[in-house]
Amino acid sequence: MTSTLQSNKAIKMIKAAREGGYGFPGVVTYNLETIIATVRAAEAKRAPVQILLFPWAISSSDGLLVKAAAAARDSATVPIAVHLDHAQDENIIKLAADMPNGFDSIMIDMSHYEKDENLRRTAKWVEYCHERGIATEAEPGRMEGGEDGVAHTGDLEGVLTTPEEAQRFINTGIDFLAPAFGNIHGDYGGRDNIKLDFDRLRKVSETSAQSGVEIVLHGTNGFPDDIMANCVKHGITRCNVNKLVLKPYSEYYRAHAASTILTELIDEGILLIQREVEHQLDVMGASGKAG
Ligand SMILES: [Zn+2]
Repeated sequence: MTSTLQSNKAIKMIKAAREGGYGFPGVVTYNLETIIATVRAAEAKRAPVQILLFPWAISSSDGLLVKAAAAARDSATVPIAVHLDHAQDENIIKLAADMPNGFDSIMIDMSHYEKDENLRRTAKWVEYCHERGIATEAEPGRMEGGEDGVAHTGDLEGVLTTPEEAQRFINTGIDFLAPAFGNIHGDYGGRDNIKLDFDRLRKVSETSAQSGVEIVLHGTNGFPDDIMANCVKHGITRCNVNKLVLKPYSEYYRAHAASTILTELIDEGILLIQREVEHQLDVMGASGKAG
């Protein structure tokens, strides 16, 4: 690990989770309500948590959402880190990495390039981020589907991660790896369609562990609690959650937006998200781990 990463908060949190045998959510946040709810849930449960932003959140808010997330992190009494997920545009990676007191980690997603070019560009941005004390993440293989705020990889077929593929990405210097082992971006359409290859996950984890790289989870929409817990049991630390914690909030807004005053709508919305994040903190075994 380079010296500038010694005090990196995302790395510390993820290593502590792996050594402690628990996971914690990385909550995809599109607005201030979600940031507030995430921090309140972590404080209430005395648990670590990460705030995830897609590049959309930077451009849509002219960077203000990043500042809000960072301010929430800096004033919290539990470990919180701010992560940029699926940064596919190199201008955004540069902008994000150059932000003072902004992101603790950045996922470099060059999956729209051919493999060798993908690896070359990933290595370049890993170095750029590391020089600024920011941890990095990549997604070897290709997960199917798209997510609100992430460009769809189009008609490209999903490719499951092999240990060899993982190793090639590990060689770029990344700190965290998001394997494709049957998980997809977007909706699965019911429990029966969630087909995870835990044997593959175990092999990729073993390869990663040899290089000190930690495994994170993408694609958890509609995950039942036991499947989520099983992922954590297999050594996954940060588990990205999107619709899994935002669904009741979205449904409440859809049903009540026309008849409820805005302040009430917002306050109730925060409570609904907080409740779901607290539940996931319990499921992943994070509750109480912040002391
Ligand atoms: Zn992903």
